Amino acid sequence: MEEQQKELDGKWLQEGVQRMMVMLESDSRNESFARVCVASFMTRMNPTVAETDDVKTAVSEAVTNSIVHGYPYEKGLIRLVCAIEKDTLTVQIRDWGRGIENVKKAMEPMYSQSVRGTERSGMGFCFMEAFMDEVQVRSKENEGTRVVMTKKIGEKNHLNG
Ligand code: ATP
Ligand code: MG
Repeated sequence: MEEQQKELDGKWLQEGVQRMMVMLESDSRNESFARVCVASFMTRMNPTVAETDDVKTAVSEAVTNSIVHGYPYEKGLIRLVCAIEKDTLTVQIRDWGRGIENVKKAMEPMYSQSVRGTERSGMGFCFMEAFMDEVQVRSKENEGTRVVMTKKIGEKNHLNG
């Protein structure tokens, strides 16, 4: 626990930041569970349906990647951390799986490399970037992958009065 706390971005430990953390098994059924967890956590931000849908899609893509690519053969752990600071939602999805050799290349549209040879479209990272304001990916081969995404919630509420 202490180690995990240390690993989290320091700013999340500050006052005025609301956080939650869930540890998931890399079971495909946990993809929808993770999505609902985040959607439920962010309701306090009073998001629009569209904003919630955007976040749910991005979370699904990241969690699916951890399940399919991070742990293609064995079961592993996936950690989901969410933070709310003012009107900004931060979602971190982390696995300790195979990792990505070349992150820049992996994030290119239509780039897909699946160890189990299943055909995929290679659009997951593009969806995350399209539906969130910012996406950062850090990964190391055989050590795992961490995706950190942020999105400002409520801007559209304002526009619509
Ligand atoms: P799609 O998401 O459209 O089904 P995809 O998963 O192949 O296809 P992306 O989600 O964009 O496409 O990911 C691109 C590539 O990055 C993957 O094919 C995989 O090689 C690598 N990758 C992504 N996430 C992880 C992860 N958590 N662990 C290991 N490799 C990953
Ligand atoms: Mg994907």
